[in-house]
This record gives sequence, structure tokens and C-alpha cells, in this order.
Amino acid sequence: MESAAAATDRRGRRAGSMLRSLDFSVLQQCLHCGLCLPVCPTYAETGLERHGPRGRIALLRAVALDELPMSATIAREMEYCLGCLACTSACPAGVRYAEIFEAARAETLRTGVLDTRFRRFLRAITLRGLFLRPRALRALGVAMRLYQRSGLETALRRSGAFRLLSPRWRRLETMAPRVSPRFSHRLIAPREAPAAEPPRRRVALLTGCVQDLIYAEVNRDTADVLLAHGCEVVTPPVQPCCGSMHAHNGDLEAARTLARRMIDLIPPGSFDAVISNAGGCGSHLRHYDRLLADDPAYADRARAFAAKVRDVHEWLVGTGLRAPPAGADAPPLRVAYHESCHLRHGQGVARAPRQVLAAIPGVTLVDLPEAEWCCGSAGVYSLTQPETADRLLDRKVANVLAAGADVVALGNPGCQLQIETGLRRAGATRIRVAHTVTLFAEALRRA
Ligand code: SF4
Ligand code: SF4
Repeated sequence: MESAAAATDRRGRRAGSMLRSLDFSVLQQCLHCGLCLPVCPTYAETGLERHGPRGRIALLRAVALDELPMSATIAREMEYCLGCLACTSACPAGVRYAEIFEAARAETLRTGVLDTRFRRFLRAITLRGLFLRPRALRALGVAMRLYQRSGLETALRRSGAFRLLSPRWRRLETMAPRVSPRFSHRLIAPREAPAAEPPRRRVALLTGCVQDLIYAEVNRDTADVLLAHGCEVVTPPVQPCCGSMHAHNGDLEAARTLARRMIDLIPPGSFDAVISNAGGCGSHLRHYDRLLADDPAYADRARAFAAKVRDVHEWLVGTGLRAPPAGADAPPLRVAYHESCHLRHGQGVARAPRQVLAAIPGVTLVDLPEAEWCCGSAGVYSLTQPETADRLLDRKVANVLAAGADVVALGNPGCQLQIETGLRRAGATRIRVAHTVTLFAEALRRA
């Protein structure tokens, strides 16, 4: 076996596989202290070393050193990992687990150790199909909207036809989100300026894919809140996917293609900030610099773009939060804040959303036990690990019920969909789930 030192280039990267092309020092950072274990949801599930960050890093390091082949067992282990990055926040050594996670998923894809015909088909339809073509994705959204509103969905459910599906697909069918009546480009003009003052800043608003299809009104709310903070808001009507889903599922080539398209569409030099209201997207957008570091045509612009990305809460607080005036009709609301993993651990944004909520007249923030614990959404985790996803969701729902809140506020569409599903299943439909900026925008409109 060749030594690690002999195989590293001057940038510390090893030739060959995706794991070996990772800066080897990233894999060497782990001190084996175990401080990440208590925060890792999959380790909490089984108590097995290989189901925690420390064990996973050890396995992947062995693969990078050619001590172990990239096997289906290791790939499944990485599929079991949520990618929630709670371990990153807990790690005193600053292990960059996100990089390791993405490289491991890319290695899984490259080696094909988990490939089946069905997986290849799904990938071709989703990652390489719909999520590379925003217009096709919206066309699917329109078709789904028709299906849901025409009564066909209800009729099929009543007929019992879905009983023919496998349990996994039946479960997914019950989770199918309601498609927004109108998508973001029908709700937000390409350029909007504040009515009452000259713009203080110019920002680009990202509408996302899931957010655009299912929660487009959250994008309208975000634009309204930014306008109320004196921002000129530029919202390109057709936007590419940010590529986070591709990167998390190992398709780094497609993720790079999408990053280039995004940078071409939103030149960072033209804006004070690029605003994201989705924790998962924002976390990925901040890494465009790493993603395109080896692309001479884009590396500089990718660095500039990543530096301009701001989560909407962080931006509002950072530029001077303007609290909505307290009206006599502000309804008293007990609000529990759920932390999206990629907002909290991926972007380090924890205080700002609570500050935004606390500024809303009538809102009382109540403590949500384990607010940082993953809700089980984690991209396509519900599809790949339904049992674990369900257990995490049940745990989240139990904590929400214990908090005694009227509203669960959050900052990521995946979490919103997941927690709405969990509360519906638990019969707790009186508890509303809403994006933080939606609550803020409603207070502005009341005022
Ligand atoms: S990303 Fe989450 S599930 Fe994966 S090792 Fe880290 S804490 Fe555990
Ligand atoms: S906390 Fe960091 S250094 Fe300690 S075992 Fe976990 S990953 Fe390694």
C-alpha cells in the first residue's frame, strides 16, 4: 500500500477517487475525542460506532488510504448518515464533515456500488432531468396541481387504488405536498423597489425549487419583508436549482453545472447580497467557492458569489431589523422555533431567526425541546431511510406537542413539509407550521 504522504500532491489532495481527491488534511483532522457522538441522531438510534461521525470518518479515511475498498456496506453507511452536520457544530477540531460527506456520496456514485436499474432511472428523471430544467420542473408542478385540484387525487384515494403500491410508495403518496396555486414568478415582479423610500441596498432573491413549487408565498413574504427593510429586490423569474440536492447525492458534476448557471444569472458584483430563505440551499450556495475552486473561468466569481450569500434572517438582523409596529389587533401567538440543520449547523445561523420572531408584536417564544435535533427530512432521506426518518419525525412531533405552541416557525421548506406531515399524522392540525418571514410579513401587513 502506498503511503498517504507519497500519494498527496502539493495541495494535499490524493489522485484517483473522489475521497482521495479530497484535501487529505480534512480526513486527518479528527481527534477521535467522541464529542460529536451525543449530537449525532443516527448514533443515538443504534449506539454503534460506525453509525456516528467518528466511525464514519475512520472508515472513509481507510478508503482514501486504500486500506478498504469503497464497498456497498460503506456506501450504505453514508446513505444512513443524514448529512445534518450536527457533528460539525459539536466538533472542537473543526472537522469539515460536509466535505467528507459530499466526497463519500460522490465516491458512491462514481463506483456504482449501490447502483440498481431503478436508482439509475430515478437519478435520470430527477437529478439529471427535472432538477436541471426549471421550466420542466414547473410544468410537472402544474400537472400535479391539476391532479390535486381536479378531484382525481381524491377519487384515486377513495378507490383504494393506492393500496396496490408498495408500502414505501404508499407512505410517500400520503406525504405528497400541496402544490402552490401560483409559482414565484407569478407573485413577484423581476424587480421591485420600496414604495416609501429610495432603496438602501440591492439584493437578489433566490426562489428555490421546493420553495417555488410548494411554498411560493414564502418567497412573496420574503420579498415584502426585504422591501420593508429598504431593499430593492431583484428576483429572476426562472432560476436554476442551486445544486444542493445534486451535491448531497454525489453528483458533483451536475452541481458544478448548476453553480455556473446561477453565477451567470446573478452576477455577484451587481448585488449587495444574494438572499436565500431556505436553510439547505443557503448552506450549499455558501460553498460555491469550494465547488468551483478548480475552474479557472469561475473560481473568482464563485468566491465572490459565496461571500454575498446571506440567509434572510441574518441579513435582516445584520442590516438593522425594523420591527413591525404593534397594532391593537396583534394576535397573541406562542411560537416554537425549530432549527433547520443546514441553517444552524451548515450556516451557523441560530440567533437571528429568534430575534426576527421576538420582534413580531404578540409573539411569545416558547422553548422547543431538542430544537436542533434533525426532523428526519434531510433531502431524500424519507425515501432512502423511511423507518429512521419516521422515528426522527415522531420525536420532533412529541417535542412540538410538549412545547405547547400555536405555531412552529422554521426556515427551510424540507423541514416545513416534514413537520406538517408529522403533525397531520398525529392529528395536531391546530398547530400551524410557518416560515419565520411569513409571520413577520403578516405582522407588517396587519400594521
Ligand atoms: S451529519 Fe448528522 S447523522 Fe451524519 S454523522 Fe454528522 S451528526 Fe451524524
Ligand atoms: S468531535 Fe470532531 S474530532 Fe472529536 S471525534 Fe467527532 S469528528 Fe472527531
